[in-house]
Amino acid sequence: MLYLDNSATTKIHPEVLEAMMPYLQEEYGNPSSKFYSLAENAKKAVAKAREQVASLLGCDPDEVVFTSGATESNNMIIKGIADYYGREDGANKRLMTTKVEHPSVIETFNFLGERGYEVSFLDVDQYARVTVEQIKEAAAQTQPLLTSIMWGNNEIGSLNPIAELSALFEENGLFFHTDATQVIGKVPVDLKNLKGVRFLSMSGHKIGGPKGIGAAIIRKQSKEIYTRLTPLMHGGGQENNYRSGTLAVHNIVGLGKAAELAAANLEQNVQRLTELEQYLTDIFKTNLSGKIKFNSDEKDKIPGLISLQFIGVNNELLLKKLADYVALSSGSACSSSKPSHVLSAAGRSLEEVRQTIRISLEREVSEKDLFIFKKIQ
Ligand code: PLP
Repeated sequence: MLYLDNSATTKIHPEVLEAMMPYLQEEYGNPSSKFYSLAENAKKAVAKAREQVASLLGCDPDEVVFTSGATESNNMIIKGIADYYGREDGANKRLMTTKVEHPSVIETFNFLGERGYEVSFLDVDQYARVTVEQIKEAAAQTQPLLTSIMWGNNEIGSLNPIAELSALFEENGLFFHTDATQVIGKVPVDLKNLKGVRFLSMSGHKIGGPKGIGAAIIRKQSKEIYTRLTPLMHGGGQENNYRSGTLAVHNIVGLGKAAELAAANLEQNVQRLTELEQYLTDIFKTNLSGKIKFNSDEKDKIPGLISLQFIGVNNELLLKKLADYVALSSGSACSSSKPSHVLSAAGRSLEEVRQTIRISLEREVSEKDLFIFKKIQ
């Protein structure tokens, strides 16, 4: 079966698995223990992975906090900042995001909204994007404590203008977080040049790493001063007190290796995904002209992610029909039972939402594999 649901999750890369195996077998030490070699080896492995993630993202290793994935990173950053700064009387309790974020951001905002924070969900354009002008105006009006805007959308694949937004937040000094889960390995991410991005979330299983591991990037205020936030997990004080709990060394090693590969293969990956996307798009345009509509813009998008409507065709029926041959989705894997909040916010009717499927490619797919789409009439 052809797997084309790589925005939902990816197959673990063989080199990642190979790097992890020793830490599931002979190297089982706890990196918080001391003196004996099993502990020291685990500590060294975690330090190396931290360097690999930092090098991929262009930040310092001590700005990398290992979490269980992007859901936790989003929760940790948003709730952590809201609580740490917002608990004082008279403190700013305003938080701003968009209507098309991943549920781990939307629901965290809703949670905080129910607890006295003033949360706002901004509108987006027809491609689920915000504009810099719109954010500039909204931020000037409400002076939010934290703004969270995703880098690339998981359903449509549109990219937000993160470099310009970073410049804006660097200038106004307000906290800015971006969920970069879908863009790692597909878009250059260099935090050295994005000083206004104070927080970033990423996940291992979207980039050929294992499930259950990710990172929250919490940038320092200066070389020596860490940004404080209230942790989600209290306990032994691991991860610089940001996230207690014994480190999942094997998963961390896997994330590190996946990060190293994502950095090394970025250019080839983008080139191949762009080629494959073009090839598949041409098939659709030639064979199904007038029967399909693309949801994403041709530019400023994640390469290899195609969201399209089959006019008059129910997406669930289509996906079921194809399920023996090709794995696709109707949008996000996390909310597949509900009509997409992303497409609705981007102005699509319920009917259009129910005709939409998402195809997310990976570089190992061949043109021949994609012939299957020529059979759709
Ligand atoms: N954010 C975005 C944009 C995603 O696409 C996903 C996964 O679908 C997540 C967050 C959640 O990631 P994780 O599965 O690591 O919790």
